[in-house]
Amino acid sequence: MKLREVLRNLGRDLKDTSDSPFLESELFLSVHLGIKKEDIYFMENIEVQEDVILQAKEFAKKRNNGYPFFYIYGKREFFGINFKVCQGVFIPRPETEVLVEYALDCIKGKEVQILDIGVGSGCILLSFLHESKGSRGVGIDISQLACNTTIENAKNLGLSERVEVFVSDLRGFTTLSKFDLVVSNPPYVKRKNLLSLKFEPREALDGGEDGFDLYPALVKRSFELLHPDGIAIFEIDSDMGERALRLMELNGFKDVEVIRDLANMNRFIKGVRS
Ligand code: GLN
Repeated sequence: MKLREVLRNLGRDLKDTSDSPFLESELFLSVHLGIKKEDIYFMENIEVQEDVILQAKEFAKKRNNGYPFFYIYGKREFFGINFKVCQGVFIPRPETEVLVEYALDCIKGKEVQILDIGVGSGCILLSFLHESKGSRGVGIDISQLACNTTIENAKNLGLSERVEVFVSDLRGFTTLSKFDLVVSNPPYVKRKNLLSLKFEPREALDGGEDGFDLYPALVKRSFELLHPDGIAIFEIDSDMGERALRLMELNGFKDVEVIRDLANMNRFIKGVRS
């Protein structure tokens, strides 16, 4: 079968599942045929081997069963960088890029120590360090697999020397040094909205009944871990602005602000340690 036809069939098989069925088909087939995605349309007339056609069918079956594309593809672009992801690790979301941009703006080119709580694939921490050349960072996560993924992504980006990663929860994490910046994208999805969650790690998404379970400890512990005038920035759900603002102020943060994402939704809370 010619590549043109394989692409068309695969795109059609994915159309009820995917927002971008033809893009996914191109990406999948370019990897499996060992060609660059940009070149795929110059090669539409090549004959595709039977084993690749079978793999494409297998891929469509998995996708139609809800398996995330990026787990199959093995990487996800975030802040212009490719991050390795695999099942068991939260897939970076584009809205979180605003957190990185905002954090970089806050430090105004200074070299800082940053802590990422719930580091996952490392997308926030590592894209920050990639831009802020003299800064150093620590990432913690309760998942060993997430920590290993961050370590691997750090190595791929040449950042290993400036990053330390620990398997730890918030309470168990102790350190002698303090930080200039604490960031986190904690689990904040309301449990009732996760009934159909099958493949992404629950511990990265489940914020309890109202989604807010993690924030009290996160805010309190971050205050303790920050230098005076250090900055905390956390991702929140769009309906949590008021509540997160109050919590930050109650815990002694000043200049607390709710920040919006590119869709103009409340998405982050920022405060300065007094
Ligand atoms: N924004 C993510 C989603 O809706 C949730 C991220 C999180 O819980 N930290 O899938």
